This record gives sequence, structure tokens and C-alpha cells, in this order.
Amino acid sequence: MSRPRPATAVNAPRPTRRAALATEGTADVIVVGGGIVGCAAAYFLARQGARVTLVERDSLGSHASGFALGGLTPFPGHNKPPEYLAWTREAFRLHATLAEELKNETGVATSFQQRDGLWIALSPQDRDDLCGIISHYRQLGFAVDWLEPQEATAREPLLSPALLGAMVSPETAVVEPYRLVLAVAQAAEKRGVQVRHGEVAGLERQGGRVTGVTLRHGTLSAPRVVLALGPWSEEANGWLGSPIPVGPLKGQILRLRLPGKPLTCYVSWHASYAATKEDGLVWAGSTEEEVGYDEQPTVAARNAILHDLVQMAPALAEAQLVRQTACLRPLSADGLPVLGPVPGIEGLVVATGGGRRGILLGPLLGRVAAELVQGRTPSMPLGPFLPARFAHGVQPTPRSAWEWNA
Ligand SMILES: Cc1cc2nc3c(=O)[nH]c(=O)nc-3n(C[C@H](O)[C@H](O)[C@H](O)COP(=O)(O)OP(=O)(O)OC[C@H]3O[C@@H](n4cnc5c(N)ncnc54)[C@H](O)[C@@H]3O)c2cc1C
Repeated sequence: MSRPRPATAVNAPRPTRRAALATEGTADVIVVGGGIVGCAAAYFLARQGARVTLVERDSLGSHASGFALGGLTPFPGHNKPPEYLAWTREAFRLHATLAEELKNETGVATSFQQRDGLWIALSPQDRDDLCGIISHYRQLGFAVDWLEPQEATAREPLLSPALLGAMVSPETAVVEPYRLVLAVAQAAEKRGVQVRHGEVAGLERQGGRVTGVTLRHGTLSAPRVVLALGPWSEEANGWLGSPIPVGPLKGQILRLRLPGKPLTCYVSWHASYAATKEDGLVWAGSTEEEVGYDEQPTVAARNAILHDLVQMAPALAEAQLVRQTACLRPLSADGLPVLGPVPGIEGLVVATGGGRRGILLGPLLGRVAAELVQGRTPSMPLGPFLPARFAHGVQPTPRSAWEWNA
């Protein structure tokens, strides 16, 4: 995967007086990781008036946060604790608010756009599953409906003639993840956040308190640290002395040019999806590959994605492949985000584990990490997300075929 981008946000604004003050050793908070979670944590900390240094070893948004599809729904999925529903709802609302605020602050559009989501049934089993999901989500107060095949193809003419119907919801949106990261980073820089290139290799500590981070060359001091390392979170296990079981789940996306009309809806089938994005291309995904830190696109993934895409919309067999990308989701051992302090280390907060919903959850994870590291009362429930839950092993959560997309 390419990493072409600079370590500072594009069009960085002129440094303010506050920015000039936040030189090495004078930050209130160091945030490690320049994905959506780290950038959002830095941004919300700066909104609270903190002096922040953000450290990234590659480039901002150069991993999953810059290459994800950017599909957003407030649905909680299955087998999740009730707190997760509060998070997905608030995370969805926050994207809508941020789209306005970031446009005003930076001029960068995150392109948050609500559009109908269609979850299609291609077999009687799919239809039964989706009917069950509809009744569950209605009980939770979501606007979901069943469409007969002709109603679904009226909304999305490219859908397969083998369609048995679809679940539809207007509570679906897409965003441009790379622009979202840049907008958040640029707004953070405008508020004085210093973006610094560097690889963090450990924590500086005095007694039970964090006092900064160890870089490959040198140290940075601050009384508070947020670790937003995404799928590399397990690298910190040795620094923390406690397990943070969050590792990489590789996913790949194809970008295709299709002559004629775009897809108007966000279409899903099991774990696969397709949507026409702002670049006019159909983005189709994805895979779930447990292959460590490999970020190379593969032919096998391309074939698997195309196979599902053609099941959903046969006309897409004619589309021309323009680009294939691969990147890594930060997936925790129980599938839930990991957010909060680490027992025995004062001043430190870990924020990671967004999994397949990390663009949805990222800004909110960043906001609540900012609250926690400043000692404020968190605005969201944390119970099932606290890192301390891993101290006594993990119970993996059972997943359904529609787990991540519906
Ligand atoms: C194919 C695919 C499609 C996806 N589609 C969606 C979607 O439609 N909707 C959705 O909500 N989510 C989606 N996701 C998930 C989402 O992209 C991720 O969950 C999210 O981007 C994770 O953000 P993050 O900030 O935690 O991690 P990252 O984006 O991985 O950022 C972590 C950063 O930390 C840096 N770092 C790590 N270690 C160090 C260190 N020691 N020192 C300095 N820097 C360090 C890394 O270089 C990296 O830049 C998708 C993911 C994939 C792979």
C-alpha cells in the first residue's frame, strides 16, 4: 500500500501563539497515532484548551483511516452490550455535527452524506435473517423496512434479478475517510496542535505516573498520554505491562469505473458492500484476512470481492478496475472498542479497537479519550470498553453473517 502523504496535514495553517508555545517538553498531552482516533483525540483536547503534540510514524491517515470505505450506520450489530448502541447512535450524530464544524473551521468537506442503505437477500436464509434483523432494529427504534424485489430494484436498478427482497433504511451515510482525517488534523493544527513525525518505542514513567514517551531517537515529555495505535496496539503490551489484545484484520477494497448510472444506495450483502463514492467510482469490499501486518493487495482478494459484487449487481462485471487497496482494521479480542486508563499507570489512556466500524466510532473514541485523559467525567458509558477487562482473559463474541454490515 502506498504511503505518499506528508506527516503534517495539508495546507497547514500559520502557527498561532499557542502553537508556538507547544514545543518539545511543554505539551500537556502527547497523542500517539495519526489515524482518525488519534487525530480526533488531539482535536478535542485542543478544543478544551490543552497544548497537544501528536506523534505519527508514517503519515496522517496513511493506514485504514485514510483508505476505508466510510460507510456509516448507527446500528449496533448483534451480541453487543447495550452501551454499544448508545455509542453507535452518538457516533453517527457526531459525524453529522463534525461535517458542519470542520467545514467551517478548515474549508475541508468530509462529504458526510445520508443515503439509503439496502441489505439484500439472495437466498431464503438471507430473507429470514433480514426479517429477524428488521424486527430487532424496530424494537430499538430504528427506521428499517422490508422491500419486495421490484421495490428494491426501483431504488437501485443495478441489483441482481435473483433478488428476494431487501432491508432498507434511510439511517445510513457515507463519508470520505481520508478527507475526514485531514479536516480533523487541520482543525487541530489551527488550534495549536503540533504534529510531529516519529516512532514511539515506549513510555517514560516516574513511579506510577506517565511522564512522556520514548522515541526511537530521544524523548518527549508530558504529564498525560493518549495511545491511539490502531492495529499496532499490541506493540504497547510490553510498555504497559497489561494486555491490550488488539491486532490487525486485513481488508481490501476495489475501486471500479462503471459506464452509465452510479449506484444511488449503499448496498450490502453479508460482509460485502458497494457504493459509488465522490470520485465517481464504485468502491467494493471487503475481505477479512488474519495475516498479520501484511498490507499488500492480493489477486485472491480481488477475485473474492468481484465474486460477491457480481452476485449483488451483475452489471458490475463490466466495470473496469481502477485501483485496489489493502489496510488493517484494529480488532480487539472481543470485538469491542478499547478505551480508558490502564491500571497502574496514571495519566495514560488507550483508545483503539474500532474494528470494521472505526470510521464511525473514531471521532467519538477521540472525544471521550480527550475527556478521560484530562480527568473529566466521560460523556459516554465506558463499562464494557475498559482495558482492564482483559486482565482475566477474553470471551470472544459470536458473530453472524451480517455482523458488521447490519
Ligand atoms: C478495507 C476496510 C474498510 C473499512 N471500511 C469502514 C467503513 O466503511 N466504516 C467504518 O466505520 N470503518 C471502516 N473500516 C475500519 C476503520 O478504517 C478503522 O477501524 C479505523 O480507521 C481505525 O482507526 P485508528 O485511528 O484506530 O487506526 P489507524 O488508522 O490504523 O491509525 C493508527 C496510527 O497509529 C500509528 N502508529 C502505530 N504505532 C505507532 C508508534 N509506535 N508510533 C507512532 N505512530 C504509531 C500508525 O502509523 C497509524 O497511522 C474499514 C477498514 C478497512 C481495512
